[in-house]
Formats: sequence, C-alpha cells, structure tokens
Amino acid sequence: MTLSLVLERLRPALRPEDRVAAISDEQICLVLPRIAHPTQAVLAAVKCLRALDRPIAHEGGTAVLRPCVGIATVPEHPADPAQLLMAVDVARRIAGSREEGYHVYQSEDNVEAEVYHGLDIDLERAIRANELTVHYQPQIELSSGRPVAAEALLRWRHPTAGPIPPSTMVGIAERTGLIASLTFWVLNTVLRNAAQLRKEGIIPNLSVNLSTRALVDAELPDLVDQALRTWSVPPGQITLEITESSMIGDAERSMAMLTRLKGTGVGLSIDDFGTGYSSLAYLKRFPLDELKIDRLFVAGLLTDRGDHQIVRSVIDLSHNFELRAVAEGVEEPATLEELKRMGCDLAQGFLMARPMGEREFRAWWLDKGGTHA
Ligand code: C2E
Ligand code: MG
Ligand code: MG
Repeated sequence: MTLSLVLERLRPALRPEDRVAAISDEQICLVLPRIAHPTQAVLAAVKCLRALDRPIAHEGGTAVLRPCVGIATVPEHPADPAQLLMAVDVARRIAGSREEGYHVYQSEDNVEAEVYHGLDIDLERAIRANELTVHYQPQIELSSGRPVAAEALLRWRHPTAGPIPPSTMVGIAERTGLIASLTFWVLNTVLRNAAQLRKEGIIPNLSVNLSTRALVDAELPDLVDQALRTWSVPPGQITLEITESSMIGDAERSMAMLTRLKGTGVGLSIDDFGTGYSSLAYLKRFPLDELKIDRLFVAGLLTDRGDHQIVRSVIDLSHNFELRAVAEGVEEPATLEELKRMGCDLAQGFLMARPMGEREFRAWWLDKGGTHA
C-alpha cells in the first residue's frame, strides 16, 4: 500500500494549513497548527479515521486499512518537538488496542506503555483472583444539593506495576477476549454492593460503564437480567453507560441491543456526550434516560465560550428529549453554580468527591444525607 493513496483519502479531511509528513512506510505525522482545544484534535482524528473507513483500490484488488491515531497537543503536552513526537507515538500504540481507534496522550501513558505487555495474562488472573475493586463516585442533584447516585469505576492495583488505569484494563480485556468476564465481574460486584447498601437503607442509583465491545455480545441483556435477579436489586436502581461511539457503528444492531437492555428495566445513559458524532435521530429512536456531558466541556465552561455553548446545548437537548443531563468532571465551585443556573440535573466531580471504595462511600453518603429508604 503506497502512502500516496492514503494521503489522497486524507486530504479532504485536512485544512490547507495542515502539514503532512511520512514517518515510515506505515506511519504519517499530521501537524495541525490551528487547534484551539484538544477536542478539535479528536474530531480531526475521527475525520481521518472515517476517511480511511472504506476499502482502498490497490494493485487490481482492494485493501482494508486498520488505521489508528495517536494525539498530543501543545500546550497540554510537552512542547519540545522530540518529546511531543514520543508522546504521539506512545498514544498511537495505545490507540491500536482501542475500539475507537484514537487515543489522546496522558501523562501516565509512558508508564502504561512500558508495563503494557505483561499485563494481558495478569488481568485474567486478577479477575479470577478477585484482585480488582470497584470505586464509587457520587452524583448530586443540583436542585437539592443531595447525593442521589454514583458511578461505579473499575480499579486494579497491580502487585508490581501499581494502579492500572481502567481504560487500559478495558483495552486489554477487549484485545484478549476477556471483556465479557470483566463486564460480568463489574456488574456482579456493583449489584452485590447495591444489595448490601439497600439493607442499610442506602439506595443510590448506580451507573455501570459498558465498553463498546461488551455491547456486541448478544448475551449481555441476559447477563444483566441474571445479575439483577441474583442480587434482588430493582432494575430501576441501575443505569448502564455507553459511549457515543458505540452507537455509531451499526445503528440497527445498537438499537436492537439497547432495546433489549432497556427491556431488563435498567436505565441507559450516553457517556462523554459531545465528543462523538451521534445524530439527533438516535436520540429520538434510542430508549435513553440520560446524557453525560463530557468533562472536557465542563472543564472549559467558565473560560471557553464554545464549551459554554456546548454545555448549554446538551442540557437543552436533554430536556427537549426528556432526558436527565449529568455534568461530569466538576472541579470548581463556580462551575457547579453555573451548572445549577443552567438547569443541569446532576453533577459529578472531584469538587464533591473523588471515587471511593465501598466502605468510604457508605460513610460519605450517610454524612451527606444521601437518598435513603
Ligand atoms: P468515564 O466513564 O467518563 O468516567 C469518569 C472519569 O472521570 C473517571 O476516571 C473519574 O475518576 C474521572 N473524574 C471524575 N471526576 C473528575 C474531575 O472532577 N476531574 C477529572 N479530571 N476527572 C474526574 P477513571 O476512573 O480513570 O475512568 C476512566 C474511564 O475508564 C471511564 O470514563 C470509563 O470510560 C472507563 N471505565 C471505568 N470503569 C469502567 C468499567 O467498569 N467498565 C468499562 N467498560 N469502562 C470503565
Ligand atoms: Mg462513565
Ligand atoms: Mg465520561
């Protein structure tokens, strides 16, 4: 496959001022000088991935590419060109194991890249040995200021590598076929905790994240149903979070899956809303309950006009479709005030509480007067 064919495809996705350099036979470096915000780089990456989606005519036949995009932005990431290139390369390697095909470099990724290899087998062992834990991050109702819900977030402290980011865990699980086991483990752990907390009169709505790959598993709705029955938790207490990108692929299949999941009685939420490309038609057709505004937009709420407009629009959109709007990543009191003023329903973020182990969560909830039986 010659790079020129690939470049031909990419060109319409690029702006005239963007620079393209071939790094090797298989690698292209794009320099986008007019990126105002990391989310714009993600949008550009998605555009490029889409441009390469269709097979390319090659040597009398066709070739299908499996492109992946690593992203690093200045000033968020190292400005030194060599370091920046290294960051992009680390991000690219991680992107290769991600369903969405892109990854924005994070400061912890260097460590991640180093330890990544040995982790495959370890995750399998960790699931079997119950070495993973679930932490809970509260969500407060903005109208009353009271905690009403929490998001379950996966945690793994590896004996030698230390804490492994959940996104890495999910990446490994998807790559090695462990995702169904991991999803099952998380669901059961959350429901077991929910059942215990219910006995004590603590009844938060609990959100569980589902990876894109988990959504492809036809057995998932039965698994959810079975877990709910095992722990006798009313389905209305559980919300499943899916990312926007998981709805884009095969809309009919996603629709069928979401309808079956909804049939178990759980709520459905779209996570990181605003970063993908969901069409308004999906919002109308899919049986949803909630939109979670991506934390990048929440972070820029008070300083970036564009971010403010996006948050405003997502809140309005939610309400027009009779959905709950949840802001994640709330770190500043002023941001919380503004969200309240804008009519956002729920808020989650370090300002209120960091994700906590089950015990700490229970104490926090009681202390803050969270919803009770
Ligand atoms: P997410 O679902 O969007 O989760 C929210 C992330 O934002 C969490 O990161 C949380 O710790 C972080 N966060 C919360 N409040 C703040 C804040 O005020 N400021 C900042 N900067 N960050 C905040 P975490 O726990 O590292 O999880 C990252 C991602 O990993 C999650 O993003 C989710 O996509 C995935 N994930 C976590 N647990 C699971 C799981 O059980 N299954 C699956 N499939 N994915 C999971
Ligand atoms: Mg989430
Ligand atoms: Mg999110």
